[in-house]
Amino acid sequence: MAAKPFASSADLAEKHRTLDVIADGVYALTAEGDPNIGAVEGEDFVVCFEALATPTAAREWLALLREHTDKPVRYLVLSHYHAVRVLGASAFGAEVVIAHDNTRALIAERGEQDWKSEFGRMPRLAKDADSVPGLTWPTQTFSDSVTIDLGGDRGDLVLRHLGRGHTEGDIVAWLPRHRILFAGDLVEAEAALYTGDAYHRDWSGPTLDAVAALGAETLVGGRGPVTRGRAAVDAAIAQTRHFLDTMLREVGAVHARGGTLKEAFAAAHAALADRYGHWPIFEHCLPFDVSRLWDELSGVERPVIWTAERDREVWALLQG
Ligand SMILES: [Zn+2]
Repeated sequence: MAAKPFASSADLAEKHRTLDVIADGVYALTAEGDPNIGAVEGEDFVVCFEALATPTAAREWLALLREHTDKPVRYLVLSHYHAVRVLGASAFGAEVVIAHDNTRALIAERGEQDWKSEFGRMPRLAKDADSVPGLTWPTQTFSDSVTIDLGGDRGDLVLRHLGRGHTEGDIVAWLPRHRILFAGDLVEAEAALYTGDAYHRDWSGPTLDAVAALGAETLVGGRGPVTRGRAAVDAAIAQTRHFLDTMLREVGAVHARGGTLKEAFAAAHAALADRYGHWPIFEHCLPFDVSRLWDELSGVERPVIWTAERDREVWALLQG
């Protein structure tokens, strides 16, 4: 069998983008499994959720949004620190860039390495990579929650940290009036999970419990289409949990019997491929996912920093 091309390096076909108006003044841009992005209109401003990988990519999204509203972007909310979610931030001209306390710390600790790692893994998303002016720094951070009054009779947008999950600083954006949840990468709808910086046990347990407890009726996950209806939202959350629990079971069994990382990868791949193998970025993510879970089960509390070099080493070991 020919070696698989590294990560998403061979995934070069443009994805079709869809701007959904989910409710009056509430928007989601989805793109066939590429990172999603959202916006919520306030009375005289806009809140954007996620920033894409580069200012050039973000400007394309903003042009679509500007067909619906010309209000200025006051707040840009970053769900977590990953480069393909944050490095387009400068295009928004936001007054305030909001993230979790841990996200700010992660950007300081590993933002540079993550930038090189992610742009190497997903070159297509790094559209006009030279347009990135530098790391994105939040100007406001919080630990538990922040409420943005949208003005008029538009209600509140509530930003919440529900526990460690996809990273140690994920936040969600919740519109209680519409029961709409922007979940970031904590929930994926019909896209594989990236867990290379995750806390699998917290994520599959208390964190997803807290996501489910919100009772969302519409959910925009990190990738994949908008999920509509309570049953479909619950199914998306359940499917995210199933992916994590399957990894925990398979990788955990190999770890417990003193097997190798390579054996754990083979076991996880075999258990997940039938159900998830056809989803975007499955083959790309799994080596990094299993590697992190292996560390977690070995007592490595915080995810080891991914670098462009370490990415290639893990890929060669597990997918080469
Ligand atoms: Zn992410």
